[in-house]
Amino acid sequence: MGIIHVLDMSVANLIAAGEVVERPASAVKELVENAMDAGAHTITVEIKRGGVSFLRVTDDGCGMSDADAVSCLQRHATSKIKDADDLARILALGFRGEALAAISSVTDLRILTRLRGAQSGTLVHCEYGKVTGIAEGGYPEGTTVICEGLFAHVPARLQFLKSDQSEGMAVMALMEKMAVSHPEIAFRFIADEQSKFHTTGDGNLKNAIYAVYGREFAGKMTEVSASSGGITVSGFISTPEYVRGNRHMELFFINSRLVSSKTLIAALENAYTSYIPVGKFPACVMFLKLHASAVDVNVHPSKAEVKFHREKEIFDAVYYSVRGALEAKIARPALDVIKKTQGMTEEKWNAVSGFTSLKTEKPEQLSVTDVLPEKKPEPATPVSSPKPEQKETPILTPKREAPEVFAEKPLHAPSTFDYAAGMTARVAAPTGFKK
Ligand code: ADP
Ligand code: MG
Repeated sequence: MGIIHVLDMSVANLIAAGEVVERPASAVKELVENAMDAGAHTITVEIKRGGVSFLRVTDDGCGMSDADAVSCLQRHATSKIKDADDLARILALGFRGEALAAISSVTDLRILTRLRGAQSGTLVHCEYGKVTGIAEGGYPEGTTVICEGLFAHVPARLQFLKSDQSEGMAVMALMEKMAVSHPEIAFRFIADEQSKFHTTGDGNLKNAIYAVYGREFAGKMTEVSASSGGITVSGFISTPEYVRGNRHMELFFINSRLVSSKTLIAALENAYTSYIPVGKFPACVMFLKLHASAVDVNVHPSKAEVKFHREKEIFDAVYYSVRGALEAKIARPALDVIKKTQGMTEEKWNAVSGFTSLKTEKPEQLSVTDVLPEKKPEPATPVSSPKPEQKETPILTPKREAPEVFAEKPLHAPSTFDYAAGMTARVAAPTGFKK
């Protein structure tokens, strides 16, 4: 007789939960994404004790029928895709149909929901993977998900959680990013009965940045807006007098999804070469819009990592739009020195900087190697010396900054690029830094 058997669904969900729900912040991310996918205009997130003892996400989205309120807890149950073809054109934030199944397997979970326009709503109670109650009730339109005692029955997980304060900070950092990613949604974040921030949902990105990160930070941002070859870059980047000691504020959103991508980081940081000192990092709240088929978000269950089908074009789009925005903002010396040191013709430079203009969408994108000769490393010191008054400008620290745990190193352009050598040369590596 064989020794292999198919695992019970609740055990399978528990295993999957390891990938989807690492900590309270990952549960909040999934629940808030569900609220966004449901078309919410207002999303309120409340946590207690870092989200471990209590976590609630309330939205005014489409809500769920009584049947869906139960079936949403099953693994691979989703309303967002139907077949494999849909995977190639995902616009919803969710699609794997596993978040609620995973979350419900590691917490005491209640869903209170009512379809828009329905007479009444439904409450579903699921305790650590087992549905223990379903009831009809007069709930508001939309959905509220409440999780209590996260990982209470999974000691192995519980012991890997950090202090309540650290977990709470991670949730807050996530909420801040979620809020700026959708300025058209009004977000409210409450931790331990204190309102931490709220955005108005007026659709204005600068207002959302102001509400979330504060006046000083918002004041140091300059707009970036460019479009070429089906890729649109928009948002805000920091002016060179604002620098940071880490990458925490390099925020990228692709089709409104918060992503982490080495390609995007490298493009951004390379564009700042000669503007900010080596070892310092810029900030950005940058949105890329591209065709859903140009990017693969299905790399990992957390959906934070992405793969681009044409990486170089994405790199160029970010690099040139940032570079152009910086040039437009900052006086010419830097540009002139760069032109001279790179031996660039006026025509080439104009084509490059033309990328940043939405009105003159003309220039064919130049590759980085066109602009930056491979074997011309830059001096380690910035090409342009900062203006006298910039020297006196104190380096701003944002309103709330997570403690810096690791010293971060400049990131090289991905080594798979044929132009990586050229780009790498532009990032003055710290002594002893090896690729
Ligand atoms: P996915 O988001 O990948 O589809 P989830 O497990 O997160 O998977 O959710 C399963 C389904 O439950 C969703 O496809 C959606 O139909 C429904 N759902 C979840 N959360 C909400 C919500 N806040 N409002 C309306 N429907 C929801
Ligand atoms: Mg989901």
